[in-house]
Amino acid sequence: MEYCEQLKKGKVQMTSQEQLIQQLHQLGVIPGCVLVVHCAFSKVKPVENGPLGLIASLQQALEDEGTLVMPSMMGDEPVPFDPKTTQCLDMGVVANTFWQQPGILRSDCPHAFSATGPQAEWITSAHPIDPPHGLDSPVGRVYELDGYVLLLGVGHDANTTVHLAEDMAGVRYRRQTSVPLYQDGKLIQFDYEEIDHCCENFNKVDQWLDAEQLQRKGTVGHAKARLMRSRDVVNVVTARLQQEETIFLHPYGVDEECDEARASIGIGSLGSISGEGKSSQ
Ligand SMILES: [Zn+2]
Repeated sequence: MEYCEQLKKGKVQMTSQEQLIQQLHQLGVIPGCVLVVHCAFSKVKPVENGPLGLIASLQQALEDEGTLVMPSMMGDEPVPFDPKTTQCLDMGVVANTFWQQPGILRSDCPHAFSATGPQAEWITSAHPIDPPHGLDSPVGRVYELDGYVLLLGVGHDANTTVHLAEDMAGVRYRRQTSVPLYQDGKLIQFDYEEIDHCCENFNKVDQWLDAEQLQRKGTVGHAKARLMRSRDVVNVVTARLQQEETIFLHPYGVDEECDEARASIGIGSLGSISGEGKSSQ
């Protein structure tokens, strides 16, 4: 049956904002905390008042003392990032709705995050293009503030804080990338190397956190939800990466992104597969 038809026939229940707030509190969202939210609205809906209803519920669950943070980075557009106009559709409809609301702050960086609440100004203050997600970045600041990460209908492959952990662990793999920006009034491509790969294996973090009972699971709207401390993600992931630097990279030949990351530390050739899993210090 089509989704809309199911909704009309009452087979899919609309979650009210009041229910959402209850679900968030039940999951462990504490009023007054700093919370980064990664969300696939398609998994959460239907929700009273749509994406705006979910945003309002998150804000109400955090109360006035809490700070709500969402990814707001640009995609592959050929024009430079502008915090006032650049869409972030790759981050989902909730994140792309969030930054456009009155009073929401957005950092001025291609790797932007948006935020509202007492810590929003610091979290969205200037941060470098390179590295994108180190300690001096919005997710780095959330880590320093002992904030939380909430995954709504998405897995850890959407969890930017895992990139922070890679940076803090000092992994050596990189991928060539570039962003368009204006330099002295001229449009240029700024080239840099980013800690990156296909990120599918970030999903391993789910089991690692579960094994140490460091994440809470529940339901928000219709979506599977996971809540964890940013510091727990960083501690657990850096420990794994120190044992095995390439733990997130697919074996050679699975996808171009992981191949490029492997090649950047000299393990991109077929001949080195036997070295799989060994960390080179
Ligand atoms: Zn891969």
